[in-house]
Amino acid sequence: MRRRFLAYFLEVLKPFYTAVDRLEVGKHTTQPAIVDKRHGRLCSLLAHGLLGLLLRPHKEDLLAVTGYFFDECVGFPADEAEVRKSIHHTTEWGKRCREVELQDHQFLFGIVQGGTYQALRRQSAQEIAKIDFDGFAIGGVSVGEGHQLLREITGMTAPLLPPKKPRYLMGVGLPEDILAAVHRGVDMMDCVIPTRYARQGTLFTRTGKLRIMDKTFRKDKYPLDTKCQCYTCQTYTRMVLRYLFFTKDPLAETLATIHNVTFYEDLMGDIRKAIENNDYENFQSRWLNAYLKKGQK
Ligand SMILES: [Zn+2]
Repeated sequence: MRRRFLAYFLEVLKPFYTAVDRLEVGKHTTQPAIVDKRHGRLCSLLAHGLLGLLLRPHKEDLLAVTGYFFDECVGFPADEAEVRKSIHHTTEWGKRCREVELQDHQFLFGIVQGGTYQALRRQSAQEIAKIDFDGFAIGGVSVGEGHQLLREITGMTAPLLPPKKPRYLMGVGLPEDILAAVHRGVDMMDCVIPTRYARQGTLFTRTGKLRIMDKTFRKDKYPLDTKCQCYTCQTYTRMVLRYLFFTKDPLAETLATIHNVTFYEDLMGDIRKAIENNDYENFQSRWLNAYLKKGQK
């Protein structure tokens, strides 16, 4: 397997989002930013924004390192005629967008659509792959099709994309979906899950997800995850964290977010190592085995 690009993108910080929203872009961060357009955040802004901003010389300092052209993402379910029309728009927009000159530090990714129709996925992938993008995104997923179909679409689309360029699966996801996507040839993903779940009190651990507000953690003196090196796990017990959530202390969401983001970073780091060691299959089953087994500390 080739895995040189493995990466995971999280929600961008709010000040950056606001900055782009107002098209008042400064140099607040050096981090690449990709945000899922289906969550109504930056990606559509970025897709529109990158085009728009590239056409405005004084906005060329846009922090976007990786941009996406404006595709047409149909929902689920969608009939074949609708999907066919959307891939036509997507390809035509892709061609036009590729003509815009990028700065040296910027990359432009193509997006493949095609809904759940194998022939249309193939057609879209072939059309988009012909345009010389820096990487390729599998779009039109995580729109309500469910885990199984998501995996099928990923499995049918990823092999159609140029093997030497990064493949990005938009809007994914839960750890088990990330592992499945990597298994099918995906290099990059993004999702709001780590931060959104954290704010709602759902924390990820190597032995499964937990709801910190559950009564079980009332007297739990363990850290969230004994193997996690994050500030939250090194400093707070589950019972204290539960108390902070219970009393609606604003610190609770921050601590939970620190942990969930660290958890995802660790997961991606471990995936990368396993691939480098040519041990991904074993790693995946070991990891899932521990993660899906309940009741461990
Ligand atoms: Zn932690």
